[in-house]
Amino acid sequence: MKVGTMLQDIVSSLFHRPVTEQYPFEKRPAPPRTRGMLHWNPEKCTGCCLCNSDCPANAIELITIDKKAKQFVMRYHPDHCTFCGQCVESCRFGCIEMSSEEWELAATTKEPFTVTYGRDEDIEALLAKRAAGDAEPADES
Ligand code: SF4
Ligand code: SF4
Repeated sequence: MKVGTMLQDIVSSLFHRPVTEQYPFEKRPAPPRTRGMLHWNPEKCTGCCLCNSDCPANAIELITIDKKAKQFVMRYHPDHCTFCGQCVESCRFGCIEMSSEEWELAATTKEPFTVTYGRDEDIEALLAKRAAGDAEPADES
């Protein structure tokens, strides 16, 4: 770089705001198609298990409490997830979506990396079975 050009850049930088973004103190909205945290809605779930059988990363478990009564619980492991979106594609009932807003998922403990989704009563039924010493209902994939 020529000295003249360099001086020109230095002088110009004195009068312009830095282009560096002060992340994480200042955040831009993520693009709408960002693939972030997965969310599951149990209301239309049939327990077909296509979502977890198609997941290449073993990031989701579909736990059947009572198939006839359509009681299921999903356990999601964001630390395994590759955010490929395959589970969203595979679910024919639109039960799974990926948040474009929750994408900062780093944590210093393991707890946030096991997420349990389901109706409150189904999660309670699962916990009660576990407390009673029953083997956890099988993942039917
Ligand atoms: S986004 Fe991909 S890796 Fe993550 S749970 Fe779905 S299928 Fe598995
Ligand atoms: S693919 Fe959809 S309907 Fe089938 S088990 Fe997964 S969430 Fe339920």
